[in-house]
Amino acid sequence: MSARILEGKVFAAEFKNDAKIKAAAIKEKYGVAPGLAVIIVGNNPASEVYVRNKHKSCEELGIYSEVIALPEETAKEELLAKIDELNNDKKIHGILVQLPLPKQIAACSDEILERINPAKDVDGFHPQNVGKLVTGQDALTPCTPLGCIRMLKSAGIEIDGKRAVIIGRSNIVGKPMLHLLMKENATVTVCHSHTKDLAAVAKEADILVAAMGKPKFVTADMVKEGATVIDVGINRIAPKKLAGDVDFEAVKEVAGAITPVPGGVGLLTVATLMNNVVFAAEKQLEGEK
Ligand code: NAD
Repeated sequence: MSARILEGKVFAAEFKNDAKIKAAAIKEKYGVAPGLAVIIVGNNPASEVYVRNKHKSCEELGIYSEVIALPEETAKEELLAKIDELNNDKKIHGILVQLPLPKQIAACSDEILERINPAKDVDGFHPQNVGKLVTGQDALTPCTPLGCIRMLKSAGIEIDGKRAVIIGRSNIVGKPMLHLLMKENATVTVCHSHTKDLAAVAKEADILVAAMGKPKFVTADMVKEGATVIDVGINRIAPKKLAGDVDFEAVKEVAGAITPVPGGVGLLTVATLMNNVVFAAEKQLEGEK
């Protein structure tokens, strides 16, 4: 039997609606809207699309939005000064620096991300937020893995006690996903480029998360009958064609549930960001009372 298709648009609409209701409640209670500032350096076309989508979502949901476009040749000190300014701006409750950064500052990405006030770090990349996630405290958490967990819950897919396998160990997806799944009481294995017999490990999974950035890497023989397969990968395989990390057509005949690409996890990321902005605003405004 073919798998249940977990359509990103259904869950994204639910998360956005949630953010819209909370943004209105914040405006009502404190007299200010939650505010997001996105800094984009240079003119990477993919980044420009992502930033436009974030701005549009804010407008739809009653979230104040500023896009700060800095030139390609921006020096590290200029970018840090802009972050300092936004850290002190009362209208702004969430700050994100769109990655990747141009090459002259890419090597300082850690220093740049650490300059963001952790309370405004809506991407959840600041070490203070990472530490809180690892120790199970309330924290701003990276949007893509957090969106996947919320999707599983909303879809009624049980996590507690399940075997979960993540392929990929990046700071943005794989590692935070490990901690989020563990917090939900899954037994989790993280596979990466040095994992031996990855196919056999993947096949143990009740929940399989593919996040390695290799088109159609996960094939049907690597998936347990009835498993839930979450495809985080976004790979451009032709000028107008995207593929995930999962061989969707074949795997959907084995899996119990699966996210498509495009139209799956990608849509959850911005929707979850909106929730993070609202969460950050509520905490900051509550603290100012
Ligand atoms: P990354 O390149 O930082 O990390 C990839 C990880 O995969 C690494 O840990 C590496 O060890 C592992 N890996 C690479 N080749 C492997 C192999 N052959 N076998 C096992 N593991 C292997 O990538 P990332 O930032 O985590 O992104 C992963 C994918 O998810 C990319 O396609 C990216 O475009 C996509 N992505 C999507 C969203 C979204 O909103 N849907 C967000 C972030 C990333």
